Amino acid sequence: MTSSSRSARPPLNRRLAEFGTTIFAEMSALAVRTGSINLGQGFPDTDGPEEIREAAVRALRDGRGNQYPPGPGVPELRTAVAAHQQRRFGLTYDPDTEVLVTAGATEAIAAALLGLLEPGDEVIALEPYYDSYAACIAMAGGTRVPVTLRPHFEESASFRLDLDELRDAVTDRTRLLLINTPHNPTGTVLTREELTAVAELAVERDLLVVTDEVYEHLVFDDAEHLPLATFPGMRERTVTIGSAGKSFSFTGWKVGWVTSTPELVSAVRAAKQFLTYVASGPFQYAVAEALALPDTYFAAFRADMLAKRDVLAAGLAEAGFEVFRTAGTYFITTDIRPLGESDGFAFCRALPERAGVVAIPNAVFYDHREAGAPFVRFAFCKQTEVLQEAAGRLKAAF
Ligand SMILES: *Cc1c(COP(=O)(O)O)cnc(C)c1O
Repeated sequence: MTSSSRSARPPLNRRLAEFGTTIFAEMSALAVRTGSINLGQGFPDTDGPEEIREAAVRALRDGRGNQYPPGPGVPELRTAVAAHQQRRFGLTYDPDTEVLVTAGATEAIAAALLGLLEPGDEVIALEPYYDSYAACIAMAGGTRVPVTLRPHFEESASFRLDLDELRDAVTDRTRLLLINTPHNPTGTVLTREELTAVAELAVERDLLVVTDEVYEHLVFDDAEHLPLATFPGMRERTVTIGSAGKSFSFTGWKVGWVTSTPELVSAVRAAKQFLTYVASGPFQYAVAEALALPDTYFAAFRADMLAKRDVLAAGLAEAGFEVFRTAGTYFITTDIRPLGESDGFAFCRALPERAGVVAIPNAVFYDHREAGAPFVRFAFCKQTEVLQEAAGRLKAAF
């Protein structure tokens, strides 16, 4: 066999061929090359609470978690996750059978889809969607069926779920709804009315629901985060996903979790055990302490992010962008058409040279690329001075 006949077949398999490298790599490299402020990727530029960092150091020094932790996660963290769901949402989970610790929410999403889907099953996901959803559905052999959140411009601009479109997307092959609220990248928080309709549909059509609630603590103004598992008939069919990266600003620790019924948690664990098996040993102990922080921590975290949102939103509006209202998450989606632009890809590729700022074209989060073409996402989980500098640069450039 010669090497030329071997190279006839591209090494990357067909399931993943469409995904390539993520836009974040390209944009982050562009940020470095041009000395731009990177508001592309969503990670905080300051670490979470000092006492929680110290808790991780203590665990490491005390030799807790330096060897393989238990497959489902350390008991302290599973207990803390259950206590957090109880305290905040009145949801009761058994730490031994209904909680699973994962390597961030990313692994939770992958393991849930790999553990729950048969090849050919259809998965409905809200478009634009977090970039790992499409790849994980593909790796599980599933078929993704996007339901597009539509921009509305009355009162304050926001993206909303069309409930008729959602209902129409369900077929006999639909196995699972993959929901994300608060929603990245649009900043939409699904309302009680919308979630009630989602829940009724799931019950009526007997669907599983995987709900990515990593921004559960980041809701602003009069928005309220309502876990899907709290709706009638939902606890027994819902896999809920959380993340210490997003709730405590330690995205590098990669600690996430799943809560659900024993049967569904077992299915997720069946896949998870062959992905990482376990991860983040000492950090699991620190996150257990973080989840028990008093309400004042979560209130201060939210207030801090709200102030940052307002700084960036005001700057973007002054620069001439249409700014969608962020009710949750740490992202702002904008519409670039008021600037005389319509192609978010071209706009984001030129923005570093033009303004010294990096953003992400929302089109990368769409199957229907044209539906996302004029939208661009900025992250505001950055220090206030950084956001002010970015706002100043944008105002000067447009
Ligand atoms: C950041 C993010 C994740 C991944 O969380 P990790 O805990 O860092 O793996 C998952 N879903 C959404 C919507 C996110 O924004």
